[in-house]
Amino acid sequence: MGAGPAGLTAAYELSRHGIRSTVLEADPRFVGGLARTVEANGYRFDIGGHRFFSKSQEIEDLWTEILGDEMLSRERLSRIYYRNKYFDYPLKATNALLNMGPVETLRCALSYAWARIHPVKNPISLEDWVRNQFGYRLFSIFFKTYTEKVWGMSTKELSADWAAQRIKGLSLMAAVRSAILPQRFQRGGREAVIKTLIDRFRYPRLGPGQMWELVTARLRAAGNTVELGSCVVAIHHGDGRVRSVTVRTASGETREVSGTDFISTIPVRDLVGMLAPAASEPARQAAEKLRYRDFLSVAVVVNRETVFPDNWIYIHDPSVKVGRIQNFKNWSPAMVADLKKTGLGLEYFCFEGDGLWTMADAELVDLARDELASLRICRPDEVLSGTVIRMPKAYPVYDDVYKQRLKVIRDYLDQALPNLDLVGRNGMHHYNNQDHSMMTALLVARNIALGTSYDQWKVNTDAEYHEEARIDADDRSGRLVPTAIPVDDAA
Ligand SMILES: Cc1cc2nc3c(=O)[nH]c(=O)nc-3n(C[C@H](O)[C@H](O)[C@H](O)COP(=O)(O)OP(=O)(O)OC[C@H]3O[C@@H](n4cnc5c(N)ncnc54)[C@H](O)[C@@H]3O)c2cc1C
Repeated sequence: MGAGPAGLTAAYELSRHGIRSTVLEADPRFVGGLARTVEANGYRFDIGGHRFFSKSQEIEDLWTEILGDEMLSRERLSRIYYRNKYFDYPLKATNALLNMGPVETLRCALSYAWARIHPVKNPISLEDWVRNQFGYRLFSIFFKTYTEKVWGMSTKELSADWAAQRIKGLSLMAAVRSAILPQRFQRGGREAVIKTLIDRFRYPRLGPGQMWELVTARLRAAGNTVELGSCVVAIHHGDGRVRSVTVRTASGETREVSGTDFISTIPVRDLVGMLAPAASEPARQAAEKLRYRDFLSVAVVVNRETVFPDNWIYIHDPSVKVGRIQNFKNWSPAMVADLKKTGLGLEYFCFEGDGLWTMADAELVDLARDELASLRICRPDEVLSGTVIRMPKAYPVYDDVYKQRLKVIRDYLDQALPNLDLVGRNGMHHYNNQDHSMMTALLVARNIALGTSYDQWKVNTDAEYHEEARIDADDRSGRLVPTAIPVDDAA
């Protein structure tokens, strides 16, 4: 269920083991889910730029197997815009000191010292966790505004878990060491430096959607089915097993699809609500309360050859609503129809149904035009056209109770429906990147094909996974820097 990276990877792995499957995708046009690439007038845009980077060689090899020469290796350049200044990101000492000035630097040092002497005991919120690590002053410059834009809630409400998952193992001293010392003097030697300070990433020539279109073509060629415009609306079970699902097609017809094993990448909240007979009362109540953060991108074409050199810029500045700006030509030149022009993606984090989400497309394009001008990135008349892409449930929210809720749901499903496996990002309500989502799918597909008992819930969670190469935290949020940026993902 779902033709995003996880659903398609599961089907691909099953197919490699000679097992045929049917992938049911609600979207009538796109495969790739959050990792799709959208095209408008020959200009291509991601839902957020998707870096291809994994600490798993198996996932890297799978990308290479599918994309071959179409996979580019790109240099990374990204900066933070805050109060009319551009901070190199990952931070560089001279640039940061010049931007902050001596007075602010001294304040940051004192506030760090204060946090070390008086740490918050047992930090539960993201704010307390990060403040303990870096001091309140640095927290307020490099974490607070951006994190609140991304999540739409106070850093006091966000769970420390999120910070721990994304930026575990970082400390101010490590960040300073990374910013000041030449690479050969850094702890862990050359290999650790290469692993932690990633300056390059891979990217398909035509964007991440190219990967998932190619996988779909291979699946179909091998006799599998990938159905677009087939939204799963009910999951029927009996005698302790899922028996079939009901899909509603784009034309409104419904039909039943049966099977032996079911893999879901559908957001957990929706999935539990679809069970027929209904899930247990505690599981339903827990699922209804899971929360998500939504996302929209205003993709504009700018009549200028070079707008800025970065792949993306984080906009921490609270004077504008935009959270991040992608420059897709710098990801791959093939993303633009005309090299004399530039395709930018202005990313706004929002909640489905709020003021930004419900704004008319033309108003959103006007907003993007105004904000580009106020950030002095380009003149309003240089914005030639704009397309709006709304993406519900881009981020599963880690509030302070999501873990207990997820446990109630998992306990119920594990016991009641052993032939239903949850994988992926929203499918597991876990802040998984593409590689993690794919890995969870590979493991589950292997369990089905080979009778193994891998635990997909261990991917991207255990301490060892982070510590081993310190890549997950460092690469996804940049180098060893005091900032809480989801990759993606916003982070
Ligand atoms: C802004 C942003 C930037 C990101 N950047 C990166 C990055 O740089 N690098 C990286 O590795 N990862 C990145 N990610 C994460 C990556 O996109 C996800 O990890 C990955 O797409 C998750 O794959 P998935 O298959 O689990 O879920 P999804 O991509 O969400 O796919 C799920 C699919 O299920 C379908 N579906 C939902 N409900 C139903 C239903 N009822 N019936 C049928 N189909 C249904 C959806 O339409 C969708 O196609 C980013 C994510 C975001 C939001």
